[in-house]
Amino acid sequence: DRALVLEGICKTYNAGKPGEVRVLRDVSVTLDRGEVVALVAPSGAGKSTLLHIAGLLDTPDTGNVLVDGTNMTRLGDDARTAARRGQIGFIYQFHHLLPEFSALENIVLPQLANGVGSAQASARAQQLLDRVGVAGRAGHRPAALSGGEQQRVAFCRALANAPGLLLADEPTGNLDPTTSDQVFGALMDLVRETGLSALIATHNLDLARRMDRVLRLDDGQVVG
Ligand code: ADP
Ligand code: ADP
Repeated sequence: DRALVLEGICKTYNAGKPGEVRVLRDVSVTLDRGEVVALVAPSGAGKSTLLHIAGLLDTPDTGNVLVDGTNMTRLGDDARTAARRGQIGFIYQFHHLLPEFSALENIVLPQLANGVGSAQASARAQQLLDRVGVAGRAGHRPAALSGGEQQRVAFCRALANAPGLLLADEPTGNLDPTTSDQVFGALMDLVRETGLSALIATHNLDLARRMDRVLRLDDGQVVG
């Protein structure tokens, strides 16, 4: 039972032009359901590119992306957008919360876009905020929150529509070591409680060791 399958993914930027970069060369990755996997690589190795392809934010030159058994590379734009909204949660290094909305509203909005009613969406948002320890900050805008609080809210937003797959690109890379440790712990608790499958890129080997398995991205290829 596979949450995510990447098969033979290749990606080159500026193909055939002066700045050609072959970022991914025949990358294959499989995540079982409920598995939490670390992706470790030096900066510039292609972590973001791989996560964006897995998250349907970018397309590979060749290869297939299967989420929950559906081959997403064969779907049209509308179906990919629906999958991105409902089946996949994405977390960036920087929170990317909407600045003009409160923490709660930032978690409500993706649910409304997914067809959930507003009362139910608010209740779920409040419950998620409570689980990551920032229930008291629901009415604050992102600028009024600390870095750690902003990331906790971003985690809640990623999980708003109860996706089966979570993709995270250095989710605590922007925080000081102590805060990073605490916030990462909150993320792992949330992931384990919900039985999510997750692929989490990190530079931090201590954090990587807390996951089920570590993958390394090296010279365009993934090694166990
Ligand atoms: P990482 O997340 O591991 O730091 P990235 O996936 O962001 O790596 O980038 C991998 C390589 O591809 C880098 O050399 C980067 O400069 C290059 N790259 C990333 N995106 C683009 C793009 N849109 N156009 C050209 N080169 C890019
Ligand atoms: P991160 O690795 O944290 O995602 P980057 O600075 O590598 O941050 O990339 C930010 C954005 O810029 C990404 O969307 C990536 O595709 C793009 N990018 C990265 N490197 C290049 C590049 N050399 N040329 C064009 N776009 C790039």
